[in-house]
Amino acid sequence: MPFNEMYGINAFGDSVMRDRLPKAIYKELKSVQAGETELTVACSEVVANAMKDWAIEKGATHYTHWFQPMTGLTAEKHDSFISPTSDGRAILEFSGKELLQGEPDASSFPSGGLRATFEARGYTAWDVTSPAFLSEDGSCKTLVIPTAFVGYHGEALDKKTPLLRSMQAINTQAMRVLRAMGNTTSSRAITSVGPEQEYFLVSEEFFNARQDLFLTGRTVFGALPPKGQEMEDHYFGKIPERASAFMTEVNEELWKLGIPAKTQHNEVAPNQFELAPIYGVSNVATDQNHLVMMTLKKVARHHGLVCLLHEKPYRGVNGSGKHNNWSIGTDDGLNLLNPGQTPGENLTFLVFVSAVLEAVDTYAPLLRLSAANTGNDHRLGANEAPPAIISVFLGDQLQAIFEGIANGKPVVSQEGQKLALGVNTLPKLPQDLTDRNRTSPFAFTGNKFEFRMVPSSESISGPNFVLNTIVAEVLDGIAGKLEGAKDLPSAVKDIVTDTWKKHSRIVFNGNGYTEDWVTEAVRRGLPNLTSSVAAWPHFASDESVRIFTKHKVFTKEEIHARLDIVLEKYSKQINIEAGVAFEMATREILPVCSAYAVDLAAQVSALEASKVPCASLKTRLADIAGAVEEAAQIAVKLDAARIKAKGVSDALEQAEASRDAVFAAMEELRAPVDRLEKLMPKDLWPMPTYEDLLFRL
Ligand code: ADP
Ligand code: MG
Repeated sequence: MPFNEMYGINAFGDSVMRDRLPKAIYKELKSVQAGETELTVACSEVVANAMKDWAIEKGATHYTHWFQPMTGLTAEKHDSFISPTSDGRAILEFSGKELLQGEPDASSFPSGGLRATFEARGYTAWDVTSPAFLSEDGSCKTLVIPTAFVGYHGEALDKKTPLLRSMQAINTQAMRVLRAMGNTTSSRAITSVGPEQEYFLVSEEFFNARQDLFLTGRTVFGALPPKGQEMEDHYFGKIPERASAFMTEVNEELWKLGIPAKTQHNEVAPNQFELAPIYGVSNVATDQNHLVMMTLKKVARHHGLVCLLHEKPYRGVNGSGKHNNWSIGTDDGLNLLNPGQTPGENLTFLVFVSAVLEAVDTYAPLLRLSAANTGNDHRLGANEAPPAIISVFLGDQLQAIFEGIANGKPVVSQEGQKLALGVNTLPKLPQDLTDRNRTSPFAFTGNKFEFRMVPSSESISGPNFVLNTIVAEVLDGIAGKLEGAKDLPSAVKDIVTDTWKKHSRIVFNGNGYTEDWVTEAVRRGLPNLTSSVAAWPHFASDESVRIFTKHKVFTKEEIHARLDIVLEKYSKQINIEAGVAFEMATREILPVCSAYAVDLAAQVSALEASKVPCASLKTRLADIAGAVEEAAQIAVKLDAARIKAKGVSDALEQAEASRDAVFAAMEELRAPVDRLEKLMPKDLWPMPTYEDLLFRL
């Protein structure tokens, strides 16, 4: 199918609506989407009907309210359009009410106690701003309606609701700032996100043969082969043919859904790849990122592959993350983070960058916890980079501009300098205002900030509702200052100066992957929250509760419920991983190793009886038998720790026990098991090795 026929064919997007809805209804819907008016029942009836006709023409029989519960995944319950008539036939119907609201019950989703069983109702509500679409799973076609999932009293039970609330909050405060700065043309401030998604591919046969990958998404054991990622021969290399065929199908599926998949390339680790769409409005980009993850997983299977979204499927090579490119703009097309040719004189730019600096410095723990999950604990602050410390990369040029203003010696902006490449045949490229720094967790990259800590497997809702809320909070203060200002330029100068004096400690342009930086960050007083469990409790801090409630993103109860949910999820995940490590060790690996040790012992006896020297064989036997015994003992300890942690009732204490006792024992068990892998004959090792997983595709 040619691209222009394919793009958006499965999305009930703007052009379909314009074609299929009566003009007045289309206009009404647009103003609802813009937040100017409320949706009327009459309007929803017409839209529902048009959606149904569109979906049925495409072969759909069912519709679903699609939502994002606190599991971090998406959920759906399908209903058919069928409505029986009194004469024994059936017609296909879809009412405005069915479009607007669903009651999926769905009481088994985590609610952190927000849904007591006596009022266990949960409702899904249509997100008018995110396009409905047609999902195709083989012959099953379904009209999918993106929705928010809330409790009986409107409590947020999902990841979409707080994101929408935070977009509203930042819109309100940013518009105050813009008005105070004399902007009369824009009517809305909108946050946009472009998430770059990293993932691994692995052959299905290898995946299926490893209980750890199959059940937890990561390997709990595995020794690196003689080759890892040191040759850097995978990064940006020629995409392997099998992966390429997979990507082609992924792109086609995404394009059909109207998702602008744009970039794809090999990443640093072997068999690691990345996909980035063109950015979009935060809630739509978040929905679409879910679809990207689902599509990657689904399509991989068509090619005999499995897509791993886990943050750290393999030890010893890079893990996966998501780069959350974030910006704020207006409905009439301004990007408030666009420096322009003369950033030093661009007051709007200076104000909004100042707001981000202050927000990131003041609320670093909130950003950090928004990127916390079990998988990311293997990356952030662990032995491997990146560190868990939040800092902002501005680049030398921007830093000089801020410093200059703060010190009363403003730098004169230079017209975008040309970068001479020294090769005549290459075009002269305009020099990026910011150079590249790949080690910064929060980097200014041209006209957006790139939050790079975000975990690869999770919804990007959390990082974005945190970002939106903390920036909204700072903008609120700035708006207060600007609204009363007599002289705008000098008020902006004061804001920049004040921000720089108080918050420049968050700016770091150097290499964030060095030990020196960790020491330096401590000196600057920047928090270093090296585990998820250490980070999460900050969510319930007084200041966190203050800003989230003030901007109506969460109630205090919602925060506490959410905190309990993430802590419990963490403990459960560690518990599963520990169970898997225990089983694999005691039921798969150690029996094979001890049987082999017995064989070796027989060989040793035979050789000794024949007076043949066999010292190295004896050493090997001792090494293997020793490692088996060591592993067996740690396995017992691990199981005991797991059972003990399971019995702890307080969510935080349980998570701490899971981290300090269970996870620690799992790590301990890994050492002798990985040693055994290297001591055992290759053909006896009972599962695919890292060599298979990382290099055979
Ligand atoms: P890189 O790997 O160099 O960081 P990519 O092109 O892979 O760059 O990804 C950059 C992402 O940032 C893309 O999703 C892109 O659409 C997005 N992006 C570009 N401009 C903006 C912006 N103003 N706001 C948000 N996201 C943006
Ligand atoms: Mg990037």
